[in-house]
Amino acid sequence: MNGHVVTGNSDLIRKWNRSLVLDLIRRQGPISRADVKRITGLNFTTVTNAVGDLVEEGLVQEVGLGTSSGGRKPVLLTLNPTARYVIGCELQSTLLIVGIFDLTGRLIIQTEEPKDPGTSPADVVAATSRAIDALLAEANIPKEKVEGLGVAAPGPLNSRTGVLLTPPNMIGWRDVPLREMLEKATGLPVTIEKDGNAAALGEVWFGAGQGVLDLIFIIVDAGIGGGIITGGHLYRGRHGGAGEIGHTTIDVDGPRCSCGNYGCLEAIASGFALSRRAGEEIRRGVDSVLAQHGAGDTAIDVHHLLEAASQGDKLAADLLDISGRALGIAVANIVNMYNPELIVLGGRLAQHSDAVLERALELGRNRAFSVLSQDVRIVPSALGDQFLLAGAAALVLAGLFRGPVDLSPAEL
Ligand SMILES: [Zn+2]
Repeated sequence: MNGHVVTGNSDLIRKWNRSLVLDLIRRQGPISRADVKRITGLNFTTVTNAVGDLVEEGLVQEVGLGTSSGGRKPVLLTLNPTARYVIGCELQSTLLIVGIFDLTGRLIIQTEEPKDPGTSPADVVAATSRAIDALLAEANIPKEKVEGLGVAAPGPLNSRTGVLLTPPNMIGWRDVPLREMLEKATGLPVTIEKDGNAAALGEVWFGAGQGVLDLIFIIVDAGIGGGIITGGHLYRGRHGGAGEIGHTTIDVDGPRCSCGNYGCLEAIASGFALSRRAGEEIRRGVDSVLAQHGAGDTAIDVHHLLEAASQGDKLAADLLDISGRALGIAVANIVNMYNPELIVLGGRLAQHSDAVLERALELGRNRAFSVLSQDVRIVPSALGDQFLLAGAAALVLAGLFRGPVDLSPAEL
């Protein structure tokens, strides 16, 4: 189906066939056993056994009868969306969001609590575990029905080992074995990906990227990150660091970046960069409503900027224009490098500022090699403010269904 040859381990083959059948029923149900056999190419016994297992586990239900092509009318199969649930967790430096989704990706319930950049890993793990228990109790869902916990966390991190390396803006966090800690605390299987990767995967599963094989997601918020899906697979690179779009150089003589380099996209176009720039301008005496928040490097949040711009503040509008222009150049570079079908922009600066989005679209097209930019689609995330939480949940669904994006083919 996707080129992986599995031989010699009947348990793995059975698991793989089970996921193949389950994913087909998810995508094309209601569907008959005969059509499952025809489309997957599996033999009848294998399909019958896999469907039997799935019905017994409650994941698949038999509904009504299809039209007969002569003979008995076939029984149709559909996914039972509430047979299992998945939990998504969005971990940010100042926010922790946990949500429960059904198997179709419908968000059932969520909670968020503010945290501090200095909150310790142990406290974050305890808060996550508490939130999960409270949500399950409130939604009346037994923990046995939870398939797993997916976590979208700040990179850099090693998704294979589940260790967060040196997340910026998480004070005191270094080489934190977050997956192991969460598995111990919650008793659930845990999958961790950096936020950009989770966002890209979420968009493919639930958002604007459904059916798209080559997609790049760019998060433009306080920081800037990205994720790459190529040929239907998450592209991680050698150390899992692929997609660090925020640290591509946009201006060789530009301002210093948190990574130590100069002129990175993040140092010019991110919320942090715009806050620092606003502080400089205010200290220089530029008149702006932003001055009410102070003139320190981190005094002005993204929402202050968006609000000021909507009130007609010139400094805020100029800053958003700078962000959009730099983002547009980055988009053009991405178009040239990857020739993607779709570029999705998420994060408050891209989703809530028309100025940033329009600038990025315009320059992203005009500055890219024309043949490649002709039919590339550049759109804001279809998942609104939930693109990261949904992406976290998609990590678990990808494992269950082995859907359009394969999480870890090497481990099959
Ligand atoms: Zn940088």
